[in-house]
Amino acid sequence: MNRRELLKQLGLGLSAGVLIPPFLESCSKDASGPEVQYDGNVIVIGAGAAGLYAADILRIKGINVTVLEAASQPGGRVRSLRNQTNVQYQTFSNASQADFPVELGAEVIYGSNSSWGKIISDLGITTKEINPMASRYILDNAAKPAADWASDSDFTSVQTFVSGLPNYVGSSSMQSAAGLSNRAQTLLNSQTGNYFGSSSDKVSAGGVAESLKLITHDSKQLTTFANPWEDILISRFNGVLPQVKFNTVVSQIDWGTNVITITTKDGAKYTCTKLVVTVPLAILKSGGISFRPALPSTNTSAAAKFGMDASVRMILDFKNNFWGLDSSFILGGATVPHYFNSGVNRSKLYRTLSLTIYGQKAEQLSALSDLEKVKLVLSELDLIYAGQGTKYIRRDLNKPEPNIAKGEDPYSNILFLIQDWAKDEFTKGGFSYPLVGATLQDRKNLAAVASNRLYFAGEATDFSGDAGTVSGALNSSVRVVDEIIKSILNK
Ligand SMILES: Cc1cc2nc3c(=O)[nH]c(=O)nc-3n(C[C@H](O)[C@H](O)[C@H](O)COP(=O)(O)OP(=O)(O)OC[C@H]3O[C@@H](n4cnc5c(N)ncnc54)[C@H](O)[C@@H]3O)c2cc1C
Repeated sequence: MNRRELLKQLGLGLSAGVLIPPFLESCSKDASGPEVQYDGNVIVIGAGAAGLYAADILRIKGINVTVLEAASQPGGRVRSLRNQTNVQYQTFSNASQADFPVELGAEVIYGSNSSWGKIISDLGITTKEINPMASRYILDNAAKPAADWASDSDFTSVQTFVSGLPNYVGSSSMQSAAGLSNRAQTLLNSQTGNYFGSSSDKVSAGGVAESLKLITHDSKQLTTFANPWEDILISRFNGVLPQVKFNTVVSQIDWGTNVITITTKDGAKYTCTKLVVTVPLAILKSGGISFRPALPSTNTSAAAKFGMDASVRMILDFKNNFWGLDSSFILGGATVPHYFNSGVNRSKLYRTLSLTIYGQKAEQLSALSDLEKVKLVLSELDLIYAGQGTKYIRRDLNKPEPNIAKGEDPYSNILFLIQDWAKDEFTKGGFSYPLVGATLQDRKNLAAVASNRLYFAGEATDFSGDAGTVSGALNSSVRVVDEIIKSILNK
């Protein structure tokens, strides 16, 4: 099935037809033309945001670069529904008029002037800012805006802890550092555990605080209005795409000599003089790629200090925006810590919730069948919104609506989308986060160059404050290219 057919099946339509202009290299700060003389060649492993950006800058500097990508498409954890053919979904047709970017991975731009924010604004893409006051917070199975919880001491304690986080010093988990009541825990988990890729008992408060202090971009949160993110990456990095070899799964790296040999799963060999590894931390930690000799202990000890947990994205479409047209994030669910009203600032016709779950809760969901996952989510929504989840969930229009009053199965013919990132063999999780005891220096050690030939980029290696985000991935590319060029020039 091609992507147009898939979208039609899903009833989501093609993206709103907003064209992205091809990226104008002459406008780029990296576009100063060939300027580095280098007889060797660089291979980049991974064509996610980090790999594409690193390869693009190297290409523009006149360096011979090739990208080896395991998947059949670029983007990595930037993945938009409209380009997929293998997402788990229930088939349906014309069930929804929604016509907006449905993201299976990253969906929020953190910082209008962050690295990713700048790329999007350079391309002239329309964005919508998410109003910070539009979040809803769940306590006692009620989802209300901050103002309505203002006199609730558990709510205010969580918010005080969150806003004071950049100044936290210590080596405790978020949960221990906050020291709050049982009633506050699901909300705390949403805002300080799930938000950072895991749960509040695992994420290090001190580790996160060190990063937050370094952020120099603004704290705006935005979505693109009509352009799927994968299309944006493809447009921005179209100049380097001819250098990408897709369906090329790297399995072994022999880096002990000046010429590095890379062996793929199907036995092909590539050689280079400098290698940039951008694969997700979970791939590195799982031993999915074997390094000969083994990676230096500086890098492996640092890798052990970061987690990259399970991650599930679910997209559910409804016939009614019962959560409130103007609400954005709905935070603090016991099953789903993070709901996002994808239609906010777009159209009241977009009645879709995008759910993001990390850590143990994602593992639990992942172990269930798809329908069981959806049932669990609907039972949470039913509890919070008086039965409206099951009542308004979209069903296959080609099949009869169940008569729930007459005892027919309320869960029949439900439509949904699920992306289970832990089960994606080239990702194996959500994004990196500091375990208790990890410091910023550990991120630097994770990124440490080995023997002037093995380099590391990717979100987990960003130590400028944006690890775990698309901007972090991009920042790491600028850093790694700088390291490579310095090493070439110092030769
Ligand atoms: C559910 C979810 C929601 C998120 N939400 C946001 C958000 O709202 N905002 C935000 O900024 N960030 C978000 N993130 C994080 C963001 O997506 C990542 O930080 C960023 O995309 C990582 O880019 P990367 O290039 O470092 O890694 P990746 O994008 O993972 O790229 C690595 C590439 O390496 C390839 N690869 C793996 N193994 C091999 C191999 N053996 N051989 C060859 N290639 C290989 C992979 O296929 C992949 O293409 C989210 C992530 C997830 C999972």
